[in-house]
Amino acid sequence: MKTDVVVVGGGIIGCSIAWRLAQQKLRVTVVDQGKIGGESSWAGAGMLAPGGEIFGDGTWARRGVESLRLYPAFCEELTEASGGMAIDFKVTGAREFGEMATLRERAEAQATVGIASVVEHDHVLYPDDAVVNPRDVVAALREACTRLECVTFVEDVAVTEIATGAVSVQDAATLECDWVVVSAGAWSSRLLPEAPAAFPVKGHLIGYWMEPGAIGPIYRKGHHYVLQRQSGYVLAGATTEHVGFDRTVDPHTVEALHKETKAAFPDLPDWPIDSWIGFRPGSHGDPVVGPYAGAERVYLAYGHYRNGILNAPVTARMVCEAVTS
Ligand SMILES: Cc1cc2nc3c(=O)[nH]c(=O)nc-3n(C[C@H](O)[C@H](O)[C@H](O)COP(=O)(O)OP(=O)(O)OC[C@H]3O[C@@H](n4cnc5c(N)ncnc54)[C@H](O)[C@@H]3O)c2cc1C
Repeated sequence: MKTDVVVVGGGIIGCSIAWRLAQQKLRVTVVDQGKIGGESSWAGAGMLAPGGEIFGDGTWARRGVESLRLYPAFCEELTEASGGMAIDFKVTGAREFGEMATLRERAEAQATVGIASVVEHDHVLYPDDAVVNPRDVVAALREACTRLECVTFVEDVAVTEIATGAVSVQDAATLECDWVVVSAGAWSSRLLPEAPAAFPVKGHLIGYWMEPGAIGPIYRKGHHYVLQRQSGYVLAGATTEHVGFDRTVDPHTVEALHKETKAAFPDLPDWPIDSWIGFRPGSHGDPVVGPYAGAERVYLAYGHYRNGILNAPVTARMVCEAVTS
C-alpha cells in the first residue's frame, strides 16, 4: 500500500519528523535497519547545551539556541501525546571549566547568538543549558506516533535504494510513497551517492549510580563532561574517535574516562557500572537538512553530529514544513 512519507532511519531525528508529519495527518512508514532509537539516539548523553557546543554565529548556531527554547514545550506536548510517558528533561545549567581568557572570549561571542552566560572566577556558568534522556524521548515519540494511528514502524529491515516515490528494502520489496525523508544518521550517505557525506564519529560513555542531586549542573572541561539524570544515574563522556563503525568498547578508554571523571568528582564509585559507545552522525560542517539534489521529493535530515538530541525539535519542524508546504 502506498504511504505518504517513508522515513529512512528511526532515531530521534526520524521519529521526531514522523510525529510532526503524523500530526498533519500524513501516513508515515519509519523503516530502520536495526531497532527504533537503537543507535546514536540510544547512546547520546542528552545534553541540550549550546553553551558547551556552539562557538560561533551561523544558521545552525541560531537553530540550536532556538531548539533549546522549544524543548520544554516539546517535552510537555510529547508527554501529553504519549499518554503521560515521563521524559527526564531538566534545566540544570552547565559549568564550563578551562582557560579563563578563552572561555570569557567565547562567552562574549556566544552572547551575540543569544546564549546567556555568567563568568565566575574559575568557570563560565551557562544557566539555560539542560539535560534530557534521549531514550525517554524516542520511546515517547514512538508511543505518540502509534496513538495517531497513521505511523507504521518497521524494524530490522534495511533500506537498500531510494528513488523518487519509492524505497527498496532488503528483501527486494518496494515501498511506494510521495516523499522520502533520509534520517539514517551516520549511514545516510551510503544510500545516496550525490548527497553530502555522513560518517561515524565514535564516542565512549560511562555510567554510575549516585544519590540524586549529587552532581548539580553539567560539568564540562573541553570534551569531558559529567551530568546526572533525575534518577541519580550519572553519565560521563566522551571520546571523539574517527575509527569507522567499530563497536568495540575499549577497556583502556573506559579506564581513562573513569580516572578523569573521578578526579573531578572524588565521591563517585570506584568503577563505572556501565560503558558503551555510539556513532555520532558526522558531516563536513553543518547538519544536512534540505532537499536532495539527486531526486525529487527526497529530503535529507542527518549529520547532526554532537547535537542531534538538541536539534531534534527544530529539524522536525523544518522537515514537516518542507513536506507539507
Ligand atoms: C557518545 C555520544 C554522546 C552524545 N551526546 C549528545 C548530547 O549530549 N547532546 C546531543 O544533542 N547529542 C549528543 N549526541 C549526538 C546525538 O546522539 C546524535 O546527533 C543523534 O542521536 C542523531 O540522531 P539520528 O536520528 O540522526 O541518528 P541515529 O540515532 O543514529 O538514527 C539513525 C537510524 O538510522 C538507521 N539506519 C541506518 N541506515 C539505515 C538503512 N539503510 N535502512 C534503514 N535504517 C537505517 C539506524 O539503524 C539508526 O537507528 C551524542 C552522541 C554520542 C555517540
